[in-house]
Amino acid sequence: MRSDVDTWILDLDNTLYPAGSALAEQLTHGILSAVAGFYGTDLTGARRIQAELVAQYGTSLRGAMVTRNIDPHEFLGFERRIDYTVLTPDPALAAALAALPGRRFVYTNGSVYHAEQALGRLGLTTHFDGVFDILAGDLIPKPYAESLDAFLTRFAIDPARAAMIDDLEVNLALPHERGMTTALITHEPSADGTPYQQIAPKRWQVQDLPAFLGYLSGQ
Ligand SMILES: [Mg+2]
Repeated sequence: MRSDVDTWILDLDNTLYPAGSALAEQLTHGILSAVAGFYGTDLTGARRIQAELVAQYGTSLRGAMVTRNIDPHEFLGFERRIDYTVLTPDPALAAALAALPGRRFVYTNGSVYHAEQALGRLGLTTHFDGVFDILAGDLIPKPYAESLDAFLTRFAIDPARAAMIDDLEVNLALPHERGMTTALITHEPSADGTPYQQIAPKRWQVQDLPAFLGYLSGQ
């Protein structure tokens, strides 16, 4: 073992599948369409409103609830129209996850429905012990402390023995402060061609997630 990590926390979107996938495009369009519908505007107006909601409330969903009292399930209705078949199984990642010692969780600002559909298509469902979504976090998203604390409490996680992997640096700052090992997924190849790099104690940058998981768990 190269680390004493016994809890593995993985973001979903653009972490368990590549950024630039057709799914990301559908998600963006679905959220913008929802905002346009609820706020009575076109997609251009929705883009501006969405940026404001995210800046002020962390996510469009929470912003829509606070400013327009919109039902979260109604807001998330767009997920039912997403075509998840654009994702394909990732056997290398499945094998790397299966080999990890300890528990594995998905920690996402999306919904459980979205996570279940995506994990199913990627062939990763059975490799996770739980999904913590935006509804479980009472609609408070990453990177807020309320969200992280609710997640850690729910699954009785010791941050000192946990690793968190996400494609957004802002989501990793607090976990790192709490003592977690953190890894930022970047989709650009590294300058020297290596699949992962340690940039500080307990801080990593990762291009090849299966390779990194194998390394950190000492396989
Ligand atoms: Mg992400």
